[in-house]
Amino acid sequence: MNLLLIRLIIFAVLFFAGLKLYRMYREWKRDRDADEQDTTAGNPMVRCAWCKVHLPESDALREKGEWFCSSDHRDKYLAEDTSEK
Ligand SMILES: [Zn+2]
Repeated sequence: MNLLLIRLIIFAVLFFAGLKLYRMYREWKRDRDADEQDTTAGNPMVRCAWCKVHLPESDALREKGEWFCSSDHRDKYLAEDTSEK
């Protein structure tokens, strides 16, 4: 009778330990996924004001509050902007 009770306790302890480890694993996995999302958020996509193409902010050029995919498009945009005025 006592032996059965001990076995039940051991089984219960192992079950809860496994459950806790599983939850820790899920939390760790969620944190890792969140970190991956942060790296994408740290490099947002911007749109070229000339050709409307989307590109990462780190690859884009910024001029007068607008984003450009290349210096060529920046020059074209600025040339058109000044000619209109
Ligand atoms: Zn462009």
